[in-house]
Amino acid sequence: MSGLIKAIRGFSDVPPEEAWKYNYIEELAREHFQKYGYREVRLPVVEATELFARGIGTATDIVEKEMYTFLDRNGQSLTLRPEGTASAVRAYLEGGWKSWGGIAKIFYTGPMFRYERPQKGRYRQFYQMGLEAIGAGHPEVDGEVVALLHRLFLRLGVEDITILINSLGCPVCRPSYRSELVGFLQDLAEELCSNCRKRIEKNPLRILDCKVPTCRENLSDVPVMIDHLCGECSHHFERVRYCLDGLDVPYAIDPKIVRGLDYYNRTAFEAICGRLGSQNAVAAGGRYDGLAREIGGDVPGIGFAMGIERLRLVMEWKGLHIPLPEFYVASATENARLTAMTIADKLRSMGSRVETDLETRSLKAQLRSANRMNIRTVVIVGDDEIAKGTVICKDFSNNTQQEIPLDELFSKTAAVNRR
Ligand SMILES: [Zn+2]
Ligand SMILES: [Zn+2]
Repeated sequence: MSGLIKAIRGFSDVPPEEAWKYNYIEELAREHFQKYGYREVRLPVVEATELFARGIGTATDIVEKEMYTFLDRNGQSLTLRPEGTASAVRAYLEGGWKSWGGIAKIFYTGPMFRYERPQKGRYRQFYQMGLEAIGAGHPEVDGEVVALLHRLFLRLGVEDITILINSLGCPVCRPSYRSELVGFLQDLAEELCSNCRKRIEKNPLRILDCKVPTCRENLSDVPVMIDHLCGECSHHFERVRYCLDGLDVPYAIDPKIVRGLDYYNRTAFEAICGRLGSQNAVAAGGRYDGLAREIGGDVPGIGFAMGIERLRLVMEWKGLHIPLPEFYVASATENARLTAMTIADKLRSMGSRVETDLETRSLKAQLRSANRMNIRTVVIVGDDEIAKGTVICKDFSNNTQQEIPLDELFSKTAAVNRR
């Protein structure tokens, strides 16, 4: 006999007792996003490698060392998507979604792939839900997107959330800030970790984000972008804060939020959950007005993505349950088995969740099984009941049972399901 084949490292199965939580979060978010006029899109999981190389930037961790890139049978370089924004903007440009008029408000959900070191709560295939507002550069859009995210956490019952915001400037003000930053970092190079030293020239902004304690200490008085914003960026940032204040969204300014991706400009934000610690943003996003130009278009946009795995970890699940079956239809005799199946079938068509026996087990075994599944109502049918047109309803919650006409079972169920 050959060995058992296992899932590959960093790729895990989501069993039913966890999957329903993913669905719960996604369903609630879907409904929430729709209230703001966002519509769901489905985007491919595989894209041309060039989309991410150009869109995300070759000097980023993602493109440098975290992408699942391979040649297909035609020799074309393809990549499993490491994030959703580049695809969303590509879809907007390719599909001519500008013709919708106004801001294209879209969201998506699904697996993303990054070759990272697997650790608790972090997988190489992970699930993200992302939202994008493409087509306008106004700070009001930023304000509403951040407020929408904050309200979603309230609805999910996640309370110890902090929203951090920053401005990353624009092509007008960033270059001079960048050279000041590089100068500061070069003087400090000896004290920085090896990773940071490598980044000084290539991606100095990322150094602000370093989690190594000595780096954090050394960078306590590093020059930050928000002190170097041009007039327009400064006005934009002020206006975003004005909206957040007006909408009563609690937030803090964190000048060290830089995000891992090159394409962000102006507003950047993260939602941090106290329970996970500072390394773990539950959601993060920002404005990416330059991204479209990298992939052959020109349109401003802003969005965020939230990690379903992490949200699942910080949510309080008490009082929320995976829906149980409502009925177990058991057959007392072999002859009644098909009748049991047709009763189950009818109850399901009326909207109920119903289990029945498919393994020709004894009545006793069926009752044990219903009990194990925590099903409250068992409907029992045998030869006598078939002859009389009745069923026996056994209620496990108070251990009573009564015989009722089959029609009554259906009419009562219909009345309950209509409510
Ligand atoms: Zn600027
Ligand atoms: Zn460092």
